[in-house]
Amino acid sequence: MPRRPISAANWKMHKRSGEAAEFCKALAEIDPAGEADIVIAAGFLQLPIAAAAFATTRIRVAAQNMHHADSGAFTGEVSPAQAAEFADWVILGHSERRQYFCEDEIALEAKLAAAKRHGLAPILCVGETQIERDEGRTAAVLTRQLAILGPDSPNDLVIAYEPVWAIGSGEPATPETAQATAASIRAKLAALIGPERADATRILYGGSVKPGNIADFMFQPDVDGALVGGASLDLDAFSAITRAIAAA
Ligand code: PEP
Repeated sequence: MPRRPISAANWKMHKRSGEAAEFCKALAEIDPAGEADIVIAAGFLQLPIAAAAFATTRIRVAAQNMHHADSGAFTGEVSPAQAAEFADWVILGHSERRQYFCEDEIALEAKLAAAKRHGLAPILCVGETQIERDEGRTAAVLTRQLAILGPDSPNDLVIAYEPVWAIGSGEPATPETAQATAASIRAKLAALIGPERADATRILYGGSVKPGNIADFMFQPDVDGALVGGASLDLDAFSAITRAIAAA
């Protein structure tokens, strides 16, 4: 079945408010989406700025993380209800959250449920480290990371396959590796959420995507877009990537 492609930007802990406003205003004017969804994951403090800039466009805003509880005594955290005031999407389980903030499958299962409760479309990131890959454990790692999914998982779930060794390294996976892994993820999804939903679920590739390599990824039948880190900070680069995704 045809799946609408996604061009998603993960700004991580970059861009102060003025820079975010400038970028969003310019992107809103270009609106390079065409036949693709554009999602900008800004910092929490910049979400209102992005949401306001994109209010009359098809460009949507994502949180990069959130707590699973609706509210409570969790100093320094952002609740799903607070995120949903400005965002329509949320990135969950990014490898930097797993690596530096000890986010595990128990936490992510609760966050997925919270995303569903609050109408936030989740982009669940999965992917193996270099060591796991070298030891031939990629399939087992993906099976473990995806095991939190089931029939109750949100219908608007998106998976981002992001091999940890390709993130920010300038060494992307080959398009063939991205395709083979995306296909294996889709097969695992079929067992977890059913074949029809698996077929409809969009699977993104992430890891050193640039304007010069995105077309090769989009040529792969199971790759439905990209989650872009470093290159998404530059308006021209992100616009070029988005145009290539929309043209696929
Ligand atoms: C990411 O952090 O999600 C990512 C894909 O980063 P980069 O594009 O910089 O590799």
